[in-house]
Amino acid sequence: SIKILKRMEELLEEKGIRDQVKVVKTGCFGLCAVGPIVVVYPEGAFYAHVKEEDTDRIVNEHIVEGKIVKDLLYKEAVTEDGEIRPFEEVPFYSKQVRIALENCGRIQAEDINDYIECAEGYKAAKKAITEMTREEVIDEIKRSGLRGRGGGGFPTGLKWQFAYNAPGDEKYVICNADEGDPGAFMDRSVLEGDAHCVFEAMMITAYAIGANHGYIYIRAEYPVAIHRLEIALEQAREAGYLGKNVMGTGFDFDIELKLGAGAFVCGEETALINSIEGKRGMPNPKPPFPANKGVWGKPTIINNVETFANIPKIILKGADWFTSIGTEKSPGTKVFALGGKIENVGLVEIPMGTPLREIVYDIGGGIPNGKAFKAVQTGGPSGGCIPAQYLDTPIDFDSLTALGSMMGSGGMIIMDEDNCMIDIAKFFLDFTVEESCGKCTPCREGTKRMLEILERISDGHGTMEDLDKLETLAETIKSTALCGLGQTAPNPVLSTLKFFRDEYIAHVVDKR
Ligand code: SF4
Repeated sequence: SIKILKRMEELLEEKGIRDQVKVVKTGCFGLCAVGPIVVVYPEGAFYAHVKEEDTDRIVNEHIVEGKIVKDLLYKEAVTEDGEIRPFEEVPFYSKQVRIALENCGRIQAEDINDYIECAEGYKAAKKAITEMTREEVIDEIKRSGLRGRGGGGFPTGLKWQFAYNAPGDEKYVICNADEGDPGAFMDRSVLEGDAHCVFEAMMITAYAIGANHGYIYIRAEYPVAIHRLEIALEQAREAGYLGKNVMGTGFDFDIELKLGAGAFVCGEETALINSIEGKRGMPNPKPPFPANKGVWGKPTIINNVETFANIPKIILKGADWFTSIGTEKSPGTKVFALGGKIENVGLVEIPMGTPLREIVYDIGGGIPNGKAFKAVQTGGPSGGCIPAQYLDTPIDFDSLTALGSMMGSGGMIIMDEDNCMIDIAKFFLDFTVEESCGKCTPCREGTKRMLEILERISDGHGTMEDLDKLETLAETIKSTALCGLGQTAPNPVLSTLKFFRDEYIAHVVDKR
């Protein structure tokens, strides 16, 4: 896509119209399945699968001659009557409500001015700092019902209240950008497409709890996101949006980047804090919770990228607006990374409570090659598999947990009739075994034993007793492991055992 961008700029230069056409290098549009994408305004013509050589036609025919290049348009972006359908109205986007992803694919990701001029950038922070007391900011977030989008779903405002109440004049804000679930890339997308929104949210949090320093903990495997964060940090400091006396408000706040080495367990709050402090990234028992005793032993708020991406909008539009979207217990939206056996692979943001069927068929475009839907795996290695009979389940924190899965950070992998559910369980357990930090025995040893049993079953050498052993081990690990990684590691096995037991039985040799 960089080549397309360069070619487009060259062509516009050659035609002498470079200054009449604004070329915007955005973050991700969400519809990865048809990328690279070029959208030409004011028509909103949505060109998909654009190749470098297509750029010449888009410039010559559309921009210069005013004729839309119909054969390059995304098929869903043309109505049955041959009319252009703006990209916001194509089925993939029309059922989405974009709050966290609102600016991704819309603003120039490497220009702070675009954020300020086109996205009301830093208005929420200014409003919070100059027009609201710290208590009012916390109350607004509490009233919004926003719950942490990183997995646990803990109420964000309540967490802030704990850090606000904690004594001490040195406090910290951390953005957890250590996104590690296989198939999940929503945080990366926000950071690549809308980094200032995260800075702004961290500033609001810092003001509310009484902190002046923030960290963004991001995995080193995200080079584009890191590059854009570095550009954004420099621009924000130069423009007076970070540093001493931000926006002339008298409030000081700055942010430091910390790169993680890619250990999945460092997404766990206490392991992340240890890693920032230069120690080995291993979890500590809780309590104490980071809101009371976090980085450097000081009260610390850790929220993930998507959680933060909601904050400026809540402050600007109010808690009532936010609670009008989603469900009573899970207000707002959730971003999912839709992958696996699905037509429209990509990032989708849907109001909480949207039925799974709508996500798979209306937004996701259904299962390729006319195959039947078999299951969806949500929540990555911590989640579980939901079978076809629950396709009408409204998706929110509680309904997923009730089905033995979880929201997690938002991985959503679709499986069709050809997928073996034991292979799926094995894939996720194998991941957990690799990523277990080894600190506690149930997770270090227990997950390995579970994997051995699964491999035996998968190879056709398992027994019915193995199924019982799997369940006993799984329940023991869930209730005795030290951190969330181990406590949730058995979920992919337990949920497949619950909903696809026949498939396990078909693999085992009954020796009883
Ligand atoms: Fe480490 Fe696993 Fe124990 Fe967590 S549960 S502390 S990842 S060994």
